[in-house]
Amino acid sequence: MIIKYWGVRGSIPTPGPSTVHYGGNTSCVSVEVDGYNLIFDAGTGIRLCGNYLMAKQPNLEGYIFISHTHWDHIQGFPFFVPVYIPGNNFTLYGPPSDVQNETLKQIMELQTKFEYFPISLSQLAATVNYIDCREGAIEIPNLEMYACRINHPVACLAYKIIHDGKTFIYGGDHEPFRNIYRDSGNADGMDEEFLEELDQNATEQNNKIVEFCKGADLVSWDGQYTDKEYETKKGWGHSPHSADLVLAEQAGIKHLVITHHEPMNSDDRLAELEKELKQKASDKGFKLDFAKEGMAIKL
Ligand SMILES: [Zn+2]
Ligand SMILES: [Zn+2]
Repeated sequence: MIIKYWGVRGSIPTPGPSTVHYGGNTSCVSVEVDGYNLIFDAGTGIRLCGNYLMAKQPNLEGYIFISHTHWDHIQGFPFFVPVYIPGNNFTLYGPPSDVQNETLKQIMELQTKFEYFPISLSQLAATVNYIDCREGAIEIPNLEMYACRINHPVACLAYKIIHDGKTFIYGGDHEPFRNIYRDSGNADGMDEEFLEELDQNATEQNNKIVEFCKGADLVSWDGQYTDKEYETKKGWGHSPHSADLVLAEQAGIKHLVITHHEPMNSDDRLAELEKELKQKASDKGFKLDFAKEGMAIKL
């Protein structure tokens, strides 16, 4: 299994001299496994991934797994050249909206309405299929894959591949589950039994994620914020670094790759944070890296 990072920035692309080392494209990771081309998220990094795949082979067949449909995870899709080539075949998996009753296909089509983009998805020359994906096993022949719901302001999934005794997990955007009333100091006067139920629910949901990540060889996970940055950004759907260290320790993750870097953080700042966190991870007995555009890992 070969994992390649094409986009590691959170929220918005950040081109410029202060981001060349870690990279400025938004979320996209590819996995080459057993002849399959798998792609996780279609942020602006997928444009580079598309160029790589086009050079690699004609008649491309691939699977694209969308963690969720926020811009930074789908905005590169209209610039993914392989979908304009007749004979290529792609299947997109991703969560449908659980608020508006829209399918993944309907949500994806919105961003190429003619007011936003000149070519609609129905005009793509490749064959593209859309599959609404929820928690549980994903049925692809000869591949063992699972999805797990994680915590974000919109339906969001983490995906797991198990192959040849190795496990890779691609997490979408995620903030640890919490009791928002107690955590924000707004629980005064609220029914204690109800609050305890919320505490328990958050603990159960967090434990479910620990279970999903148990013993994984490589986990790519949202670590957008330092603990200090997180204090003013609770509820935005991203994790502080300390929560990622706890998850890795509890789940016995062997190698944690922190990604979805905060757009405000320059290369110098990220290098400083990476050094600090690498030391903490090594003290706890696991490996940690910050994702960089162009980074490849073989499992
Ligand atoms: Zn994002
Ligand atoms: Zn998001």
